[in-house]
Amino acid sequence: MGRPERRPRDERAAAADTDPQGADGRVRCPFCGSHETELYSLFGSQLSTSQYYCRRCRVAFEALKWES
Ligand SMILES: [Zn+2]
Repeated sequence: MGRPERRPRDERAAAADTDPQGADGRVRCPFCGSHETELYSLFGSQLSTSQYYCRRCRVAFEALKWES
């Protein structure tokens, strides 16, 4: 099969599509939609992501961080 090939995502399009940050600047949980999240780690599996923790689901997830 093919070799693993990483394609850089178009972050502008992805950000406009998902908009993970809420009005208060908190990241929205992708599972329950709650803004009761907290920053868990500045570094996710990718350079462009950070790890967050949802207090509602008690689940950690990754979201794009905003630096420009
Ligand atoms: Zn949640």
